[in-house]
Amino acid sequence: MSCEIIKTDMPSLLAEELSADERHRMLLHLEKCALCRDEMAALEKTWKHMDQWEIEEPSAAIKAGIMAAAREELENDHLPWWSNLQRSVIFQTVPGALGFSMILYLIFPYDRIINLCETLILKSTFFAYFPKGLIYFALGLLYGLVPISISGICFSGRAAQKPLVKGLGVGVIFAAFLIPFFVVQCPQFASGLVFVMALGIITGALSGGTGTLYLLSKMRTEAS
Ligand SMILES: [Zn+2]
Repeated sequence: MSCEIIKTDMPSLLAEELSADERHRMLLHLEKCALCRDEMAALEKTWKHMDQWEIEEPSAAIKAGIMAAAREELENDHLPWWSNLQRSVIFQTVPGALGFSMILYLIFPYDRIINLCETLILKSTFFAYFPKGLIYFALGLLYGLVPISISGICFSGRAAQKPLVKGLGVGVIFAAFLIPFFVVQCPQFASGLVFVMALGIITGALSGGTGTLYLLSKMRTEAS
């Protein structure tokens, strides 16, 4: 048996993967050949180190953190910008938020809800005790906050790093799409009312985006 074959079989010997026959021939060679014996000793040393390494495995939380960071790092560095965009939190969350806000709009159209509020205020219900602006601000807040929070929970798969910055980005882009749509839908109302409600939508979008992504990243690190 040549030294070359012996060398390639050394790891198998350590892993106890050789047949009895192969093992016997190998040990016989090692007895005779000092060169292979040295090589075998060195390999055995490394092998034992690897065993130790396996015992000192990092905890699940550390591993999950490292994996998440590595994944994001890889996505940032090694993918073309369009692919990077496609996998980014913004791309995952904003279309979802716009979709949910359209569903919300279909169920509760802005004009009908505003008219309902006007009626309730005129009827001096409990709403009459609030300043009008506050009511419309709160209403806008819901239109901004609800869709982006649902979308964040459903689609923001990977925001392990910088959740606040990413959440803010998601909120800004979502609001930039939603506000023109909202304004176009409400031509019959006073500009002050539309402005206050738009302010509410922007506040809801920004706080919903940052809040949701921050809480999700917190929950994820605590869960793992
Ligand atoms: Zn040899």
